This record gives sequence, structure tokens and C-alpha cells, in this order.
Amino acid sequence: MEKKKTVALVAHDNKKPDLLDWVREHIDLMVNYQLYATGTTGSYLEDGTKEQGNLQINKLLSGPLGGDQQIGAKIAEGEIDFLVFFWDPLEPQPHDPDVKALLRIAVTWDIPFACNRASADFLFASAQLADDYQRKDPDFTSYLQRSVK
Ligand code: PGA
Repeated sequence: MEKKKTVALVAHDNKKPDLLDWVREHIDLMVNYQLYATGTTGSYLEDGTKEQGNLQINKLLSGPLGGDQQIGAKIAEGEIDFLVFFWDPLEPQPHDPDVKALLRIAVTWDIPFACNRASADFLFASAQLADDYQRKDPDFTSYLQRSVK
């Protein structure tokens, strides 16, 4: 049987209500995925979706305490298929380097990710979701075999 696809959910504090609203709107889809979230986001989403049934979310550390890096590591290890990351463009974050690193690793490993609601809507409305789309693993051979003098 095909392994359940995995979605990582992260939102900065000012964006948590938006992400909750989005998850509630897409609850029928979300229950079919294995979900990961940074700590506070995960608890917030679980609490906010209680009335719609229990959404099971694997909660990692809080973002500023290493949660973003944990998600990044999971992406690099091929454990995350989609990232929904509502980061806040209007507020500086203490863990800004981690935020940048998470976005960088998502691009590096070519996973589909959305950083705002409209993009998340498009991503999860994709016909590819039903087609069991197989992402091509990026080929890092030439990078790994570069000569270092
Ligand atoms: P949090 O982390 O879910 O623990 O608030 C989110 C983040 O800022 O990365």
C-alpha cells in the first residue's frame, strides 16, 4: 500500500489564525495525510480543530527552539512531501536564520511548499495529488563529486 503522504505545517504567531482557518477549510484533505508541525503551531491546530474531530499532529519542538530545523532535517531525509509555512513578513523573528534555512532546504530538495493561503489553496487543489505524483529526486552527484582544493 502507498505510504500516506506527509505534510509539515508551520505558522508564525500572527499567522497561526490564518493557518488554522485554512486547515479547518481543508480538514477533509488533512485527515488523509500524516501531519507534522512545530510545537506551538501543532497544539494550536489540534485545539482549533477539536470540533471537527481529532486531527492527529506529530508535534516537534517549537520553531525558535529547533522545530524549524527538525522539519528541515525531515525534508532532507525524504520524510516530508509538502510544507505549508505561513511565515510573517511584517515581524522580525528571533530564529530568522532557521526560517531561511527551512525555505532553502525545501527548495534544495524540490518539495512543493506554500507560504501563503492562496498558494496553499492552489497546491492542495492540484490534480497531481490524485495522480500519485512522483517527485524526481534531485541529483547532487556533481556537487558531491566537486573537487575541493
Ligand atoms: P511554533 O514555531 O509553532 O512553535 O510557534 C513556529 C515557528 O516560528 O517556526
